[in-house]
Amino acid sequence: MQSLTNRSKQVSKKEMTFMEKLYLPAILGGMRITLSHLFKKKVTVSYPEQKRPISEVYRGQHVLKRDESGAERCTACGLCSVACPAEAITMTAAERKKGEEGLYREEKYAAVYEINMLRCIFCGLCEEACPKEAIFLTDRIVPTEFERGDFVYGKDKLVEPMDKNLRVDVSVRQTKGVLEFKQHPQYAHNKLWDPNKAIKSKKSAH
Ligand code: SF4
Ligand code: SF4
Repeated sequence: MQSLTNRSKQVSKKEMTFMEKLYLPAILGGMRITLSHLFKKKVTVSYPEQKRPISEVYRGQHVLKRDESGAERCTACGLCSVACPAEAITMTAAERKKGEEGLYREEKYAAVYEINMLRCIFCGLCEEACPKEAIFLTDRIVPTEFERGDFVYGKDKLVEPMDKNLRVDVSVRQTKGVLEFKQHPQYAHNKLWDPNKAIKSKKSAH
């Protein structure tokens, strides 16, 4: 059959010569290539001590955001999970109890929220799907682990710290183009949350 690339080679079944049976010429040829690389410019870096510069909108480890007052933004709607092509996200919803308003912004919240980093392909569709501006990818690289179970990230690793100084800044991902996109009536559900409007609408509902 005609190959698509024209790079196919006919495999030879001829008997090996005495020199080929010694394997020495092949070993020396391999050593010559290895030694020649010692004097070439390295293309690798000693990660993690040395890091390459990456884009500000690099798609790395996720963060579950809190709002301005520190309450978790996620309402466990499941849209990120449905949008995820790798089925990497699972969650369990719970109902907010009286007195927990400072912890969870909505009446329903994610009691359990997990992302399997081994399944994730860092496509960013979960971020696109979220109507609450709750999940974002960041420029943090997921560290290596020895156990598969350690790659399943729960809320302890995903939710950003309560301390305002330790919050994960995702403002750089909100480029002018993204903000304009979210203004489109078709994507109105994805608009940034305006606390003043939320307070007004709550008052008008009473
Ligand atoms: S980045 Fe893509 S693959 Fe990873 S959890 Fe989000 S939607 Fe799924
Ligand atoms: S992160 Fe966003 S899309 Fe996913 S469950 Fe929470 S609110 Fe819904």
